[in-house]
Amino acid sequence: MRSFKITAFGEPLANTEVETPTPTGTEVLVKVGACGVCHSDVHIREGFFDLGSAGRMDLSRGVPLPLAPGHEIAGVVAALGDGVGDALSVGEGCVVYPWIGCGACETCGSGNEQLCSRPRNLGVNVDGGYGDHVLVPHPRYLVPFAPMPVAEACTYACSGLTAFSALKKLGTLGRGDPLVIVGAGGVGLAAVRLAETVTGVAGIAADIADASRDAALAAGARDVLDPNAPDAAREFVKATGGATAVVDFVGSAESARFGFDILGKGGTLVIVGLFGGSFELPVPHFPLREITVRGSYVGSLPEFHALMDLARSGRFGSVAVETRPLDQADATLYDLKNGRVSGRVVLVP
Ligand SMILES: [Zn+2]
Ligand SMILES: [Zn+2]
Repeated sequence: MRSFKITAFGEPLANTEVETPTPTGTEVLVKVGACGVCHSDVHIREGFFDLGSAGRMDLSRGVPLPLAPGHEIAGVVAALGDGVGDALSVGEGCVVYPWIGCGACETCGSGNEQLCSRPRNLGVNVDGGYGDHVLVPHPRYLVPFAPMPVAEACTYACSGLTAFSALKKLGTLGRGDPLVIVGAGGVGLAAVRLAETVTGVAGIAADIADASRDAALAAGARDVLDPNAPDAAREFVKATGGATAVVDFVGSAESARFGFDILGKGGTLVIVGLFGGSFELPVPHFPLREITVRGSYVGSLPEFHALMDLARSGRFGSVAVETRPLDQADATLYDLKNGRVSGRVVLVP
């Protein structure tokens, strides 16, 4: 099998050819039909996250090299280990849940494998989908995607799931509750598409780029705002009374601070993006405005099943994706790093 692997952090991906693995036990071999390129792949190749004044979070210990990145994987079942039973058959089209834990700890047992401290995440800790095949440890991580096209289906494994889980944390909102989605990139646009179904209200998209605000309106945002406009936060609070909920899909010092500043009393800010940086908050605002600031990381396997049920029913409309051949994996990571990608890029082997 051919795959594009990180062999040294910060270096271009290497085009490698190895023996196609044979699944044993409960393992399933998937022939990759499409693999999304996610912004976190850029960080994984670099080997760190920027934490602003707190320095860098080193990823190199948890990312064994060489590693094929890629955690938004969809394809068809190519071969089954002898312990799989009749849960799946060869040729079935499935999206892969990549946020796999050890399977043995209390966190995994509670259904939150994505938070396991001994992760086996595909494309992060073990080989992912930047190749023509990928090995999945158990059939329970495979979810059918028909009648969706494979290139759209793969995006649900990270951007779709991340948006879904963050919105789920807000519960059901009232009709008049302002919900603001900060950052209308790949994941933010997924949240715009999902917001009304998941929370009951359509989102207001905040983005500093004109093109991203236009894309958000096209994806169903009920309004847009530019955080760089003069007095943007104060004007928003004056007009609306402040947001009931803000989801920050950028995760920079500026975006998180903007999200905090537009919260209304009793509001919740969910930080999802991993851009990096750090920010200071006035402590008395937490009790006086009774606000909540929390994080959300990808999503759980039960959430993934719930999301795919909704996606298969056509509730979310179609995802706009640009497909590129797998051998453009490296160039695509550089484009993403340098802000030259608008919307979603999906690699096709
Ligand atoms: Zn991702
Ligand atoms: Zn575990």
